[in-house]
Order: sequence, then C-alpha cells, then structure tokens
Amino acid sequence: MPTAIPESLRDHATGPRIQVPQPPQWPALSEARKDTKKRRIAQLLAEQDAVLVAHYYTDADLQELAEETGGCVADSLEMARFGSASPANTLVVCGVRFMGETAKIINPEKRVLMPDLAATCSLDEGCPPDTFTDFCDRHPDRTVVVYANTGVRVKARADWVVTSSIALPVIEHLHRQGQKILWAPDKHLGRYIERMTGADMLLWQGTCVVHEEFKGFALEGVRRLHPDAAVLVHPESPADVVEQADVVGSTAQLIDAASRLPNPKLIVATDQGIFWKMRCSAPGKKLIAAPTAGIGATCESCAHCPWMAMNALQNLEQVLLTGDQEIHVDPEIRERAVRPIRRLLAFARDRHATAPPGVPVRARSE
Ligand code: SF4
Repeated sequence: MPTAIPESLRDHATGPRIQVPQPPQWPALSEARKDTKKRRIAQLLAEQDAVLVAHYYTDADLQELAEETGGCVADSLEMARFGSASPANTLVVCGVRFMGETAKIINPEKRVLMPDLAATCSLDEGCPPDTFTDFCDRHPDRTVVVYANTGVRVKARADWVVTSSIALPVIEHLHRQGQKILWAPDKHLGRYIERMTGADMLLWQGTCVVHEEFKGFALEGVRRLHPDAAVLVHPESPADVVEQADVVGSTAQLIDAASRLPNPKLIVATDQGIFWKMRCSAPGKKLIAAPTAGIGATCESCAHCPWMAMNALQNLEQVLLTGDQEIHVDPEIRERAVRPIRRLLAFARDRHATAPPGVPVRARSE
C-alpha cells in the first residue's frame, strides 16, 4: 500500500520556500538582427567544436538554431544521451542548471557551457542536499530515487536518477522487486507514479512552480468551451489536473501524442515553450494553453518557466565569446553522482526506452 507521509515527517521532507525570479525582459530583435545573431552563433559553434543541446521549454529561436546547427532539442533524458553521443568537445546546454550539470557529470572531459548559470529550477532549489541527506538517513530501508531536476549532491546520495519519460517503468521495476521507495523532489509526479504503480513511496514535498499553477477547476471550464479537444498533461501538475487528462506524459511523450491523436484541438498543461515543437510535429492543430489562474488564483509563472526564460540568443552569443558560465563539478561528488545516472541510461538502453514509448493514455472519469 502507498505510504502517506506522516505529519511529523513533513518538516523533514520540505525544502525552503522558493524565490521565483521575474522573467528577464530581453530587448526585442528585428528579424534581420535575429538572423545576423543566429549566423554569428552558428559560426562560433563551428569554430569552437561546440554543439547546442536545447530543452523544449526554451525560446523558439534557440530550439530552431539547435536543430539548424546539428544540435538537438529534447527532454532531459535525450539531452543527456545526445551530449554523450556527440563528438563535439563543447556542449552548450540551453536549459536549466541541473541539465548542464548532468551533461558535465556524464562527460567530464567535455567543456559544458550555459547561457546563464543562474538558471535553476524550483525543484532543485527546494531540495537542499543536507536536509535531503538527513531525510534519507532516517529511512535506510528505502531505495532512493530522485528526479533529474536535482543538484549534484542530491544525485550523489541517490540509488537511481530518473526523468519523467522513464520514471514509471523504473519504479514498476523496483516495486516488482519488493523495494520501498524514497522519492524526491516533485510530490505531484511522485503521487502520480504511486497511484499508477501501487509502489510504497515516501515523498519529498517539492513542486515545480510552473506546473503547480495549473488549476483543475479552471481546466474544466476550458474543456467545456472546447469539447472536441484532447487534454495533454505533464505529471508535475496537481492531481485534479492530471485526472482530466487524455494523455499524461513527459514533454517528448506529449509532443508525440499531439501528432498521433485525431483531435483538431489540444489543451496543453505544461510550459508553453513546448508549443514550438508541437506545432512542428502537429501542424494545423489548435493548441490551447491550460489555464494557470482562475477566480482568486495567483499566478507566479503563467506557464512559462522564469529560469528557462534566462536563455536567449543574446547571452548565448555572449557565452560563446567569453567562455564564462562554464559548469564545473567536484570530481569526488561527480564519481558518486554518475552511478545512479549510468543506472538510468543502462535501464533505458535495455528497455529500448527511447522516448516516447507507450504514452500512458488515461480515460477521463466522466
Ligand atoms: S519548468 Fe518547473 S521543473 Fe522545469 S525547470 Fe522550470 S521550475 Fe524546474
């Protein structure tokens, strides 16, 4: 039976309150200036034997440029695999800090740059390594599984690292072996996996500031306005949003579902950065952002991650010119952090679990 976290433990399973930054206001670039900048960046990448590895939540210009220059646009699992397979000496990771750190952990011999090292993540920020280590030490009977959205020291304490595209099969695998799980940091994703697998999971109480803002009651209203729309939901969203989904999945799985489903309209509950890739893979479909605010609701992120928004053509060009904003990882911690990541990559390889395999499709309860 799933384990409800006792009230007495909650303090130990919760990180600090997160300060959400204001998204940066980049000066608008004319199309001509944008093209000039893109050509300059492409030239710098070639000169420096560098490749762009971009996440689906980053700005459309960055995603386009990554594809045009032989890089990749992907979810965090595929970003890690691409970085390893690429012969380039420098990986320029457009995304948030844990993605750059993961690239460095797997590829210590490569130079890993990011447009802005301050681009972090509420899940990472909300899981401080010392508090987390203390939490793990109190539960030595549990297998520690952490989401990729964590810092190096948290990964170093874990038995497994997973991404949202592969979390379900990993937990199913461990549950079949009779293992009890300590899960961190996203409580919504943890609860979703707990419900789907029946595994015994003790949950850290972190949240993603973007997905936390989706509102179940407001989504009901949007669905009534668009009865022919399918609802696509990332499982970092609250349970009352997930319950209304036709498809629950990782970013790559949602993009796949967008092209596969027959519906002419899609209501999408994840960061709106994904719309660029969804439009490429499902042209002609109407994409509707799931509501992040209703009557009396507050909205800190409005479906766009303020840390992902720190990546832009302007600071990408700058980092290629200066070489600062380089990721460094302590070699001793790296030695420990690489083990659970390698375990993940081996598991994915053995299962041929290249995203998107078998998108979990859930019928609505109505
Ligand atoms: S969208 Fe959420 S999980 Fe992703 S980087 Fe931003 S805060 Fe973290």
